[in-house]
Amino acid sequence: MTSTVHRTCPLCEAVCGLTLTLDEGGHVTSVRGDKDDPFSKGFICPKGASLGRLDEDPDRLRKPLIREGDLWREVGWDEAFAAVKAGLDRVADRKSIAVYLGNPNAHSMAGALYGAPLIKALGTRNVFSASTADQMPKHVASGLMFGHPLAIPVPDLDRTDYLLMLGANPLESNGSLCTAPDFPGRLRALRGRGGRLVVVDPRRTRTAALADEHVFVRPGTDAYLLFGIVHTLFAEDLVTPSHQVNGLAEVREAAKHFPPESVSHRTGVAAEVIVRLARELAGARTAAVYARIGTCTAEFGTLAQWLVDVLNVLTGNLDRPGGAMFPKPATEFGARRRPYAVGRWKSRVRGLPEANGELPVATLADEIETPGEGQVKFLLTIAGNPVLSAPHGDRLDAAFEGLDFMVSVDPYLNETTKHANVILPPPRVLQSGHYDFALLGFAVRNYTRYSPPLLPLDGQPSEAQILARLAMIASGLEGDLDAFVIDEMLRKAAETPGSGIEGRDIAELHDALEGETGSERRLDLMLRLGPYGEWAGKGDLSLRKLLDHPHGLDLGALEPRLDEVLKTASGLIELAPPQLIEDVERLRGRLAEEPPEIVLIGRRHLRSNNSWLHNVGPLVGGSNTCTLQINPADVARLGLGGEAVVRSAKGQLTVPLEPTDTIMPGVVSLPHGWGHAGSPQSVAAEHAGVSANVLTDESTIDVPSGNAVFNGVPVTISPTGVITAH
Ligand code: SF4
Repeated sequence: MTSTVHRTCPLCEAVCGLTLTLDEGGHVTSVRGDKDDPFSKGFICPKGASLGRLDEDPDRLRKPLIREGDLWREVGWDEAFAAVKAGLDRVADRKSIAVYLGNPNAHSMAGALYGAPLIKALGTRNVFSASTADQMPKHVASGLMFGHPLAIPVPDLDRTDYLLMLGANPLESNGSLCTAPDFPGRLRALRGRGGRLVVVDPRRTRTAALADEHVFVRPGTDAYLLFGIVHTLFAEDLVTPSHQVNGLAEVREAAKHFPPESVSHRTGVAAEVIVRLARELAGARTAAVYARIGTCTAEFGTLAQWLVDVLNVLTGNLDRPGGAMFPKPATEFGARRRPYAVGRWKSRVRGLPEANGELPVATLADEIETPGEGQVKFLLTIAGNPVLSAPHGDRLDAAFEGLDFMVSVDPYLNETTKHANVILPPPRVLQSGHYDFALLGFAVRNYTRYSPPLLPLDGQPSEAQILARLAMIASGLEGDLDAFVIDEMLRKAAETPGSGIEGRDIAELHDALEGETGSERRLDLMLRLGPYGEWAGKGDLSLRKLLDHPHGLDLGALEPRLDEVLKTASGLIELAPPQLIEDVERLRGRLAEEPPEIVLIGRRHLRSNNSWLHNVGPLVGGSNTCTLQINPADVARLGLGGEAVVRSAKGQLTVPLEPTDTIMPGVVSLPHGWGHAGSPQSVAAEHAGVSANVLTDESTIDVPSGNAVFNGVPVTISPTGVITAH
């Protein structure tokens, strides 16, 4: 007997609904798009279609492992947690503990609910995550402009008339910080209704090929290009801000230094194109500017992300239908009690400022290697593989050898977790409940969906239980972590005027929550207190309602809501935050520089997501391979053959070449997340590739956010067998 079940795909930010067929043994026999999901409407990509293969990957760990020398021993859960406790008990100073959270935490309910309490219990400020190898510039720019790092406007894809997109390739990645199932279909619909799509990218990506216009830009120079557009808007009197803002004059003043003719040399974009883009943006009935990872993971990532929303404001497109809008997720983020700030503390060795409570992953190796008070000796990684994903990853690989103790919560023995003393594997995907706390806050349509676990746990702890138990070990407390958190949330809400439960009895409310697990009861609480919640008096949303609607619920098109979202001290949009105006000087200082002869960038592939999916047979091989894309003119100029040696300030690699005129001359592209030679993950080891992060440089960061720089890395290329000095 087979059964048909539904759940959200957890494999990227698009949150597609899936319909799965399971056999009697709980094995997935088919995966299709869920046609009844009101948001994804049946869309599915090759990653989602392979969910069953990932779920039952024979290389997934089923039991905890303890390392004894070079040998691994499978152990029971109590023994594993006892080993963690013993390791933690040997830590004399909590300042020597560090945590690294990988990108899958943004896609897991446990990561969203238990990460913060666990960090608090560990009592350390050494918190690192994939955010500083990805999107931290957007959080910092939004925090400084709008007062909250999660107040991130998204392009109103389904209604806009004009979309200017930089450094994003949603036809491969399905979108990021912009949750939009069937992003490709939404872009085609934009063009179909007479809208215009312009893509700015150093590669003619599949997304660029779909666009009305593709503009090649030199990697890492987006801030110059965007400033050139801002300059033109002021110069041609095209500025029409729709809101009262602070800092308009300062932005005008800053933009004076970047006329299109000056930035053209640096960006490789003709001045007349920059001027035309400005006029098109200003003249469109509605328009949005959207920029993603290619612009974030660059030396001026925060300036680029800031200028994106400066443009949305200056053209009157912020917070209006068809422009850049703020979603209203069902578990809305709370109010900030203090103005947003970065740099509340600094890293011990390089003095880099924190952002969002995190230190840059680019300095994790420094913190482990450098002796002195607070030297990191104990590391906890959760769903992360920084050896492959962090800048200069092979330095981290060596640094991890120097730790006193390492614990990894991860389903795989991989390039990072091989250094752990204890590995705690979470259960199968289908044994886990799923709610996209983070991603639904970036959705281009308000929407909500909960997927309860589809299969029983069979005696193994859930990921939530693993993290909760670690938190209790770290805190030395006993009891029910979820109950503590629920009571705390209820207490705060009961003290808050207008929360809907002001002055109510906490115990009574606690008892009223529904859910099979602590995670579900916490979700129920957040839904009930959220903007559509039955307790907030604004709707009837609760866990019960979501369970009754397994295909999800459409909560309507995005609506203007800047007044609700703004959390700045002034109550206005801060268009010219001092930290960013200060960084403009750094940008100015580099304007006249000659660009390096060749720079390295990354790239995405439809069947890949960082390093997560390289052990899934149907998703590797074919066009998803680790090659260096290079323009044929560079191949000829450099006398290259089938493979070449790429050198940077940090390392060198020998890679197969993929000549293609879809990439600019002077730019080469290598996907990241590869480099699995010798991995216990059998499929990944067969398709090992090389790690792009052998070449990237942890000493170069985006200054305001501390984000790592993966795009625009200077490299040299030479034929194999030729020795060159670097
Ligand atoms: S687009 Fe993303 S969410 Fe949708 S099926 Fe593919 S991997 Fe899953």
